[in-house]
Amino acid sequence: VLEGYSHKPKLDMRRVCEETDAVKEEVENRKGDLRAADVGVIVRHYITCHSLKQYCYVNCTCLEEYTSAREEGRAIREKLSQLYVQEGELEKQHYCRALKLPNRTHPSVPIGDESQARVVELVGQKREFDFKPKGHLQIGESLDIIRQRRLAHVSGHRSYYLRGVGARLQFALQNYTMDLLQKRGFIPMVVPDMLKSVVFEGCGMQPNAHKSQVYSLDPSHFPDLNLAGTGEVGVAGYFMDHAVNLKDLPVRTVCSSTCYRAETETGREAWGLYRVHHFNKVEMFGVTSNETGEESSQLLDEFVTLQKEIFSSLKLHYRVLDMPTQELGPPAFRKYDIEAWMPGRGSFGEISSASNCTDYQSRRLNILYEGNDGNLKYAHTVNATACAVPRTVIAILETHQTKEGTVLVPEVLQHYLGLEVMEKPK
Ligand code: AMP
Repeated sequence: VLEGYSHKPKLDMRRVCEETDAVKEEVENRKGDLRAADVGVIVRHYITCHSLKQYCYVNCTCLEEYTSAREEGRAIREKLSQLYVQEGELEKQHYCRALKLPNRTHPSVPIGDESQARVVELVGQKREFDFKPKGHLQIGESLDIIRQRRLAHVSGHRSYYLRGVGARLQFALQNYTMDLLQKRGFIPMVVPDMLKSVVFEGCGMQPNAHKSQVYSLDPSHFPDLNLAGTGEVGVAGYFMDHAVNLKDLPVRTVCSSTCYRAETETGREAWGLYRVHHFNKVEMFGVTSNETGEESSQLLDEFVTLQKEIFSSLKLHYRVLDMPTQELGPPAFRKYDIEAWMPGRGSFGEISSASNCTDYQSRRLNILYEGNDGNLKYAHTVNATACAVPRTVIAILETHQTKEGTVLVPEVLQHYLGLEVMEKPK
């Protein structure tokens, strides 16, 4: 009788009533054998049958046991949902702590802060001037190619306009580096500037941390969207949750994108293009296998060689630095910065950075490849600046300025700019 009804949650009342007596009899006969669970089955499956319900309430000796078991079950369910909430909170805390864990460090990396950076190479020489070199803002204003003053009511602090030849200089730098890298086999990419937190976190950045460098859109209008501070985030997101074919590795990509940085440390480089909230950057990003353990180190070296080629062709004086442990940030296993001499500032200033992140980003973003043994493995990622426009503009204007207030255009850019000399507008 029980089995006959167990798969019919919507009972045919007429039939059930007809059979009620038979059911009563069956239950009565088996009363001694019935367990609480059996009664549970009866109650669950026959509860819609009024007469049987009454019968159970009145006659079933196991009902009390069943009721208390049901109460106990309800209490366990409540406790369980509280525990799920607690588990969620703990997972969130664990995730936040795990995000702060840095990558391992290459054994040759110098230990300590910025002052411990090791100069790997010094390229070119400081230009000698027979006049006092001007700063880039002064040059840019007198050529009417940069505007940064009176923008408080327009776009706020650390903003700027490039116009005329200034704007063309940006396009020239972007096109020159994009062309050069495409000729070297890089895949050009256009990437999103707005991405979800998980991609930033996977790259080793923390959009939701206090004083984050990342701008986030108003969550009440656009939940979980942040502005990328580098094209690296967009390209890394492209490879997220992907397995790349071993035969396609290493993948070399290049993208040009607008970068947005909150620059929350106030006071530093308050004027000029050195530290601004928005700028354009051409970025190299590579994915390698890890079969020999050397692939990503080799790609890092290749990227640094390309950076040197670009900066040498722009006739800049620069140095390559092996950055120390405290300057690596969480994702980098090893990082090389390039600093160009900026005569107006009278110091070297960072114009590019190249990092081998080994498997740090791919573990978080699930970037995989199928190894020689057929197993899926974590890939390695490498990123490097090909040309961060404003700082390269600073180095070009300050290095190639003349006594007359003009600026000589490096030969490789002349074709892109259509000019040999940047002059004051007539
Ligand atoms: P990063 O991704 O922080 O290693 O920066 C890469 C390059 O972007 C640096 O080497 C600079 O040339 C440039 N850069 C970084 N932050 C800024 C900024 N706030 N304003 C202008 N250029 C920047």
